[in-house]
Amino acid sequence: MSTRIPFLLLSGVAACSPPVPSTPSTTAAPVSRPDVLLVSIDSLRADHLGCYGYSKATSPNLDRLAREGVRCEQVVSTTSWTLPAHAALFTGLFDSTHGVVDNERALSEKANTLAEALHAAGYRTAGVFGGPYLHPVFGLAQGFDRWVNCMGAALTAKQGELVKLVLDPAETLSLSDVTGPRTLDETVKLLRELPEDEPLFLFVHLWDVHYDYKPPEEYWRRFDPDWSGTLDARDVPHNPALTAQMPARDLQHLVALYDGEIAFTDDILGRILAVWDEHRGRERSLVVVTSDHGEEFFEHGGKGHQRALFEESVRVPFVARWPGRFDGGRAVRPLVRLIDVAPTILAAAGVAVPAGVQGRDVGPLLRGEPMEPAPALCELLVDGAEIRALRREASKVIRYKDGRLVFALDLARDPGEEAPLATDSTAARLGLADLDRLVREARERGKELGLAPRRIVLDDAVRSALKGLGYVGDDANTAPR
Ligand SMILES: [Zn+2]
Repeated sequence: MSTRIPFLLLSGVAACSPPVPSTPSTTAAPVSRPDVLLVSIDSLRADHLGCYGYSKATSPNLDRLAREGVRCEQVVSTTSWTLPAHAALFTGLFDSTHGVVDNERALSEKANTLAEALHAAGYRTAGVFGGPYLHPVFGLAQGFDRWVNCMGAALTAKQGELVKLVLDPAETLSLSDVTGPRTLDETVKLLRELPEDEPLFLFVHLWDVHYDYKPPEEYWRRFDPDWSGTLDARDVPHNPALTAQMPARDLQHLVALYDGEIAFTDDILGRILAVWDEHRGRERSLVVVTSDHGEEFFEHGGKGHQRALFEESVRVPFVARWPGRFDGGRAVRPLVRLIDVAPTILAAAGVAVPAGVQGRDVGPLLRGEPMEPAPALCELLVDGAEIRALRREASKVIRYKDGRLVFALDLARDPGEEAPLATDSTAARLGLADLDRLVREARERGKELGLAPRRIVLDDAVRSALKGLGYVGDDANTAPR
């Protein structure tokens, strides 16, 4: 648990005011403290979901939730990999502020997380996770009464070896691990056990969409019924068969495998939602589904994630259902950031947002009301990489380390980010100046909040193991082709 830092009220209230619960501004039936379910589906790019316009039926359960609730169209993560994105999701802070930007860092205990704020307000808090970076060693479990590890039995059996157990070097267990079914089982168990007369915040992390892509055949066959090839898609970061030059038919199959993982996970999501509604009551609860980052299939030369900040890597879904409040199947078009999720949940629960949080309550947007636009800062700072991007509603600048590559993008005209503007254009210069300012402010905010991340000591063996898995590499700042 962190040291408490002073609370600020939500927007429009002076910083020196005492914390009091806020009341959602709607005339719907009063719901004082909704139960809250937050689901993070790892590596889920928004444009591969039916409710975001994908042509294939990958996500019927999430699509239904979007019809019952509200869907934000343009949602941008802070980065393109799991650990810093989840730190941002839980703190409402940009990466340069929370500081958890590489494998060796854990979230500071001074951070005041979503779970801690809800816990302090009387919520029972529980989390169920299926992937390595949610392991307590990385500091993201702070504030949770229960934190259930659903990684495979082989990993779980090695508890005590910290990072070594989290990312097993010899067998790439975490990548080949299938954790969705166990995550479902543990979630159901929790929902049956937890008292239903106390407000609950439940976080569920679904890992299987993350590579390796190896869904049960019945799922990928839906998207590639005629496949008779031999592509071995394991070990995505290093697999020499997976290149930008791979045969188009093999790439089509690779994408079908990814889509199959989405469908497999969407089935699990559907079951979780059914049990949630049964135990917590659909009418009195807020359900949010999002993701930490997207996935590349050579749109800009790369594969997987943690390599770039183009839209396929950073654009994620954000679907919220809160009957009477966030509903009607509305599509929210203005830009929303992953860092806005925590403040939005806190506001819905009537809980003050911790001081210094950079995200904001986008409840007004979810209710169809206007808000001033706010920019998103995206950063990829792992292992010496320095890629940063400033994203606005219709424009973006991306800058690689030392300015050796700059992309100024007009997303309205060029949504595929294929035709950058001249780097000496006015749009590029203004965008880069804004990016510098945002980075400076983000670093300053981290200092003000005292959020020096804790350093996890990795011995050489573990470091080389992480590198072998593609999580620590010399090529993370490689320019896209
Ligand atoms: Zn991830």
